[in-house]
Amino acid sequence: MKWRSVELRLLFFHGLLLLVLGGLFSALTIQAFGYFEDEIVRRDLGARADEVWAIGGSILDDPAQLRELLDRRFSPGGENRFIRISVNGSVLYQSAAPADESFDPRDVPLPRAATGMRHVKSLDLLTKVFRADDGRAILIESGQSGRLAEAIRGNLISALLVGLPVMLLAAGVGGYILIRQAWAPLGVMIRAAEAITFNDPHNRLPLSGAGNRLEVLGQALNRMLDRLDSAYQHASRFSADAAHELRTPLSIIRGELEFIAREPGLSSEVRASLASCLDEAVRLGEMAENLLTLSRMDSVWGKHEHARVNLLELAQETLAQLSLLAEEKNVRLHDPQGHAVFVSGDRGRLKQVLVNLIDNAIKYTPEGGHVRVALAVHAARARLTVKDTGVGIPADQLDDIFRRFYRISTGRGITGSGLGLSIARSICQAHGGTLMGRSEGGGGSSFSVELPAER
Ligand code: ADP
Repeated sequence: MKWRSVELRLLFFHGLLLLVLGGLFSALTIQAFGYFEDEIVRRDLGARADEVWAIGGSILDDPAQLRELLDRRFSPGGENRFIRISVNGSVLYQSAAPADESFDPRDVPLPRAATGMRHVKSLDLLTKVFRADDGRAILIESGQSGRLAEAIRGNLISALLVGLPVMLLAAGVGGYILIRQAWAPLGVMIRAAEAITFNDPHNRLPLSGAGNRLEVLGQALNRMLDRLDSAYQHASRFSADAAHELRTPLSIIRGELEFIAREPGLSSEVRASLASCLDEAVRLGEMAENLLTLSRMDSVWGKHEHARVNLLELAQETLAQLSLLAEEKNVRLHDPQGHAVFVSGDRGRLKQVLVNLIDNAIKYTPEGGHVRVALAVHAARARLTVKDTGVGIPADQLDDIFRRFYRISTGRGITGSGLGLSIARSICQAHGGTLMGRSEGGGGSSFSVELPAER
């Protein structure tokens, strides 16, 4: 379904956005950590160098006391610190090896630049210059093992590498649930919209009352349905009125023509013209009648009295009534095949369907042909088929013949309005069923009515 792919697309872009933002956030976090760590270390080392100068600046010439004081105050070994005091390349004091053995003080080269930070293996080092009373430039290097900070940075990176996918997964699942919840009312509306038919035109889309955009859309669609409903009713009332108005003058015309036709002494040409006019008047009368039926059906939206109808019995009755017509045309009507099949519906309307289908079958079947009616039940659907051995229907017009006024050009003497099948299909649909036409392989056609079967 389309909307599902919209859901997935939203989820995909949401995930992609989170991935990019999460990646950026992680990179910035690591960057910021490095920056602040450098700053803190620099400040710490600077303060320690100042302290070393404050303590040892005055006793530079007494190495024993210098060592004793600095070792006591800073315990560089235990604290993994590095302190070195040098003058012109000669070392006055250098701290012992750290307990964590992260560096060897003997491997740390003397600084090239007088001041600034440097990193020697895992040692962070700051060099500061102090001026002794005698004018000598004293270099104090203060350092500490960077192992702790490295470990913290490593842990931070691992936490982000694990946390990011977990966060993405959680956001994806959460996003999916949210999107589904947001779409749920749309699904309900789609199902309701699919269920709206001409049989229940007053049904409207359900509104959740949440007041969101979907609700607004539902309200707009409902208003549109109201307008369509009223336009449709207006149109069908108009054709009902027009058909009704046509009936009376048409029957007067027909009566008058019949009256004139009874006059003796009319020439054969006049008689032929009168017969033709009469045929047309009859056709117009039938058309008006059919139009009236159609518009009435539309206006009551197929809500008729529903009773239990035996389709077998209805078929037998209709076949008996049309047998004279078939005899006249020398078409053989066979007894219906199959068992009694029950449906719930309007008997009169269902009979109209059968009359139309069997009448058509007789009409479009040449002399010597056969018309067969069969009944069956398949998967709780009653099926009635009217099959003939007539002229058949071109495959490309099988749908068109159900359109109002659509007729395939037919032979002489075949009259009709092109409304019969359209009415029949409307009746079937109003009963929750279908009417389909088929062209038979060996010539002829068959029409199948399918209706919900009654147990
Ligand atoms: P009408 O029979 O009044 O013309 P319908 O709506 O009943 O109108 O039928 C529409 C058209 O479908 C007919 O004009 C005819 O060409 C075709 N048709 C209907 N039933 C059959 C049939 N049994 N065999 C062949 N053609 C048919």
